[in-house]
Amino acid sequence: MTLAVTHCPNCKGRVKLRTKDSRPHEAYGFPTVKRRRTCHKCNFRITTIEIPISIGNEVFEEDE
Ligand SMILES: [Zn+2]
Repeated sequence: MTLAVTHCPNCKGRVKLRTKDSRPHEAYGFPTVKRRRTCHKCNFRITTIEIPISIGNEVFEEDE
């Protein structure tokens, strides 16, 4: 399971986003990681909030 955006949607997922900044954050009552990602090709920027996998698996159920 992954909530992270790792490829640039602007470049149709071909270019990997670079993580510029990563810092601890808190959302929904548990610790998360806030990451700023940029695309080196088109300069697309996105901020993602990532939930640690161990916690995410307890909170969310995957449909499969
Ligand atoms: Zn791009």
